[in-house]
Amino acid sequence: MAGILDLREKRDEYESESVLTSGKTLITVRPNFPGPDKRNLHSNFVSFTLCHEIESALGIEAIHRTHDEEGLIFFLLSDMDKVEAKRICTGVEDNHPLGRLADIDVRDAEGTISRNEMGLQSRKCYICDDLAAHCTRSGRHGFDEVSGFFKESVTDYLVSGTMETMIQRLSSFSLLAELCRELGFGCVTVESNGSHKDMDFWTFSRSIRTVAKGFGEIPALGANDFESLRKFGLELEDRMFGATGGINTHKGAIFIYLIMIQGLLESGRYEDIPEEIRRISRPVLEDFGKGSESNGLKAYRQHGILGIRGEAAGGFPKLFGDYLGVLEDGFDLKRLTLSVMSDADDTNVIHRAGIDSLRELQSKARQSLRDASGTGSLDCWCNEKNISTGGSADLVGATVFAHLIKNNYKTLKGEI
Ligand SMILES: [Zn+2]
Repeated sequence: MAGILDLREKRDEYESESVLTSGKTLITVRPNFPGPDKRNLHSNFVSFTLCHEIESALGIEAIHRTHDEEGLIFFLLSDMDKVEAKRICTGVEDNHPLGRLADIDVRDAEGTISRNEMGLQSRKCYICDDLAAHCTRSGRHGFDEVSGFFKESVTDYLVSGTMETMIQRLSSFSLLAELCRELGFGCVTVESNGSHKDMDFWTFSRSIRTVAKGFGEIPALGANDFESLRKFGLELEDRMFGATGGINTHKGAIFIYLIMIQGLLESGRYEDIPEEIRRISRPVLEDFGKGSESNGLKAYRQHGILGIRGEAAGGFPKLFGDYLGVLEDGFDLKRLTLSVMSDADDTNVIHRAGIDSLRELQSKARQSLRDASGTGSLDCWCNEKNISTGGSADLVGATVFAHLIKNNYKTLKGEI
């Protein structure tokens, strides 16, 4: 494991070099999470959200990211003057609900500009009134206290505001969790393009923002039948293709989340969601009688596999049952991914590598779960065989989403 000091030094080199070669102002967004390893779902979400905030405010796109013990860090280059850029970034630090959970550094070829130089106070500690630098140096507060504050602040942000806002944030959080998995088994992740040549982390990150925003529009739709939900889903697919330059990143996820969110809206208790989903999704089985050419429908015709449509028609029994159980037992996304891969009939795998490869993959995933080893080689095997476990990845993200709905049901429904 590279020490955090080495990583900091490496980052500093990258930053100096980019301002020198570009002659521009560099903005670095990094999570302010305690401890030697800053990577986790909450801290990644803070970086991701604030990077988007800066992108919107400055009208630029991030050009580089790193994901290591320092956490998920974004780098943006702007033509804007250093002082003006710093003014906008300190505004985000001080005013965005997640702003205090990150450090947004601004520098140019002359060096970094500090908050003090802008006439602003240094950052305060999360826990007491002292300066953050004092408490960090003296280790005044324990890891659990500081990380607890960080995670609670993120959760408060996820479930505040209107139903629209909450759905947008929760779906964005869960889709990002899926994208930042340690291993993708052929899928794009924050660290690898898996078996894909035509898409990368940025394709997915643009797509997440677009589809999560769309999911937030579902409550206002007032959809009362499956056809209006499907119509909105097709519109959202178009927006996704617009954001990704025509690449399918989240078509499967759109299908699952639309139905889950509608189930949430129509339910009276968390426990009723699967029943609502069964009712909403009934028409989906009629698709099997049609001549459409989607991967899912081809898999049904050739192999009798009902796939994700069958799951929806049954109220996502595995997702709300076994998968959620695995997730809640230690929140290990690698184990959840292997569990999903070992039993889901992932039609993405069938489409790219055939039914025999799917069965082989399922057996290898079961083996990895039993031995708690071999996951690295299974990941390589997927890439070599040109397999992408995209259907399983959709279910992993959706399981995180179900977990968030379960834990925050009453807040979401405005009951507390
Ligand atoms: Zn303190």
